[in-house]
Amino acid sequence: MSDYHLHLHPHGRAYEWPPLGEYPAGLIESYVDAAAARGVSELGFTEHLYRTDEGAAVLGRFWDDEPRRDLRDHTEAMVALDAGLSLSKYVEAILAAQERGLPVKLGLEVDFFARSIDAVLDLLAPYPFDFLIGSVHWVGGWSIDSPEVTFEFDRRGIDQAWEDYFALAIELAGRGVVDVLAHVDLPKKFGHQPNTEPLHLYRQVVDAAVASGTSVEVSSAGLRMPVQTPYPSPVFLKMFFDAGVGITLASDAHVPELAGHEHTMLTTYAMGAGYTEHLRFDRRVKKPLPLTWPQGSSQS
Ligand SMILES: [Zn+2]
Ligand SMILES: [Zn+2]
Repeated sequence: MSDYHLHLHPHGRAYEWPPLGEYPAGLIESYVDAAAARGVSELGFTEHLYRTDEGAAVLGRFWDDEPRRDLRDHTEAMVALDAGLSLSKYVEAILAAQERGLPVKLGLEVDFFARSIDAVLDLLAPYPFDFLIGSVHWVGGWSIDSPEVTFEFDRRGIDQAWEDYFALAIELAGRGVVDVLAHVDLPKKFGHQPNTEPLHLYRQVVDAAVASGTSVEVSSAGLRMPVQTPYPSPVFLKMFFDAGVGITLASDAHVPELAGHEHTMLTTYAMGAGYTEHLRFDRRVKKPLPLTWPQGSSQS
């Protein structure tokens, strides 16, 4: 079993370990050990591209076109607080861990902005990534999963917010530029959900993923949020399964203690949708492996 969505730094600056942009001895080992205690034996690291100096230079001030000043200001401040990682140092840290024999894969969490995605791909091309996960955290300049700006769901309306998010998620799924879609029904994070599940939006993401050969993650991160359910929802995940879209399992941990979080539950959840396999990625090539409960797992 594997966890293919892991970060090596918490968000913001209110943490002491690890130092910003550094990868001290033992850091990656601490994730491997925590995951192993949950029976999870392969770890795919996926740092946020936007937090790296190299990524930020390519993405630019993507929030500048946002007409709502409060959303624009929030994103500018948030991005500044998250900034300061180095893409090249991150890659070196993961590759060095591989050389030490640790069961880790080199991934990256890439935000989708239509305007800069081609330049992002040019930036990433020289690096030996095993897989890329693709995310929509920003709708225009609105950070849709930040608790400080959830008022936008009321201002825009929940249905419209979901339409706006999914327009981007559908485009990302169809581009085929990433290997795996991350937390694909993210707007539900704080409980802002349409009265009925928007199956017409789900259908378009699934069809786009099929056409482009993109996979989807099953993530326990939603369990730690107010919505208290995995991403994607059971109905959405069943649609992916019925269409033949492959899965990875994911914790979206930003600290070692959460590596492999709830992977026993996630395995049962994926099996409930019909899945019998999950995916391993090597240098952007996917390989199905049997979906089995984590070995000797005793923790959530
Ligand atoms: Zn994310
Ligand atoms: Zn993440």
